[in-house]
Amino acid sequence: PTPPVDDPRRPATSAALFEAARAVIPGGVDSPVRAFGSVGGAPAFISSASGARVRNVEGREYVDLVGSWGPALLGHAHPEVVEAVRRAAGRGLSFGAPTAAETALAEAVRSRVPAAERVRLVSTGTEATMTAVRLARGATGRDLVVKFSGCYHGHSDGLLAEAGSGLATGGLPGSAGVPAAVAGLTIVLPYNDLEALRACFSAHGERIAAVITEAAPANMGVVPPAPGFNEAIRTVTAEHGALMIADEVLTGFRVGPAGFWGLEALDGWDRTQAGTGVTPSRPGADWRQRATWVPDLLTFGKVVGGGAPLAAVAGRAELMELLAPTGPVYQAGTLSGSPLATAAGLATLALADDEVYATVAQHAGQIAQVVGQALEAQGVPHRVQHAGSLFSVFFGQRAAEQPVGSYEEARAQETWRFAPFFHAFLDAGVALPPSVFEAWFVSAAHGQAEVELIARAAGEAARAAAQ
Ligand code: PLP
Repeated sequence: PTPPVDDPRRPATSAALFEAARAVIPGGVDSPVRAFGSVGGAPAFISSASGARVRNVEGREYVDLVGSWGPALLGHAHPEVVEAVRRAAGRGLSFGAPTAAETALAEAVRSRVPAAERVRLVSTGTEATMTAVRLARGATGRDLVVKFSGCYHGHSDGLLAEAGSGLATGGLPGSAGVPAAVAGLTIVLPYNDLEALRACFSAHGERIAAVITEAAPANMGVVPPAPGFNEAIRTVTAEHGALMIADEVLTGFRVGPAGFWGLEALDGWDRTQAGTGVTPSRPGADWRQRATWVPDLLTFGKVVGGGAPLAAVAGRAELMELLAPTGPVYQAGTLSGSPLATAAGLATLALADDEVYATVAQHAGQIAQVVGQALEAQGVPHRVQHAGSLFSVFFGQRAAEQPVGSYEEARAQETWRFAPFFHAFLDAGVALPPSVFEAWFVSAAHGQAEVELIARAAGEAARAAAQ
């Protein structure tokens, strides 16, 4: 056995720690994409993080564009968030009984996303989407669920088919261990394909409980909805008595206070706008009249927990009241509404003011621009796609010529350019998400210094991608 974590005899390099980890943890990681499988090499083992920087166990500092895969909107270890968690920890880690902070967090969610009339806190995005699907089935008495290829909704059995994220990175169509009978209840459609959606509802409309969609997909790279696509999902589902589930686990409270729903349905963002687009607004009293689409159910995660394990399922009151204990749809969790996670989430949402969103959007726009310019200068065919302040780079002539609108198109890119691009950035002190299919996460702690460092690193990275 290796020595305890703080024992000086424990291996002190990422490579040695990875080797020790692989002897006891499958693949050496607790979530597959962390293993650097598609980019090669040993993953950096992180010892600490602060603001826009992470530090590995060797003591090297990196500008971080992983952002804990989304939660770190404010940057890492924001002092006020850390202090809130410390205070909560001092009062007890977990009680298995209701606390006032859970109500406060549910209210904070509803005040930003008013369609979240009721909010149930859970611990992971996977639980949130799994519960939303069960709730949709319980409410409609129907079995089928429609999802789009390239959208990732966590790792519950029924939602793994043609999912993005780690399955895209690993080139996997789905997962072993999912019974055919379960997979058979999920219909997978191409993203942004309204004809396919309409045809599916014509054929199976009365059996479909719900369509689940990422409000703006960001797990096959960033592939924003075509103008009107979310609205059309809303219309078609309503016509057939099915529910619309907007998965905002990744986009919620990140691209704006009201998530991608707020940006698109209230502010009129669309993919034809260049860069990060409009500055997000907050829903006013007239939100229902203004909104071009309103989902029945929403799921949140990542930012809502401020970096601690917390997520939420939310939506129309009469649907949400079908959850136990008021209704027949069962859902529960020993650590649901964890006092530590709730404190982190509350502190994060309180700090996420308009200036935070404007700063993140501005720096995301600048980073996307300097990276795009560097690739341009090296003649690397590419396209940078945005959904609010989220963006990612697609490589290849096809992507350069026309926007990437589906998983099929995302997979057709020149993925082999990413590993050298990634490692050149890493060598220069910039940590990108270790997969071409992931969004780049910018925080409010990223400033001019980080933009300049990324700009300096981008030249070498672009040269590496050119080969
Ligand atoms: N939904 C979306 C859109 C996500 O991006 C993710 C995670 O990346 C999930 C659901 C699952 O969340 P979790 O990893 O917390 O289970």
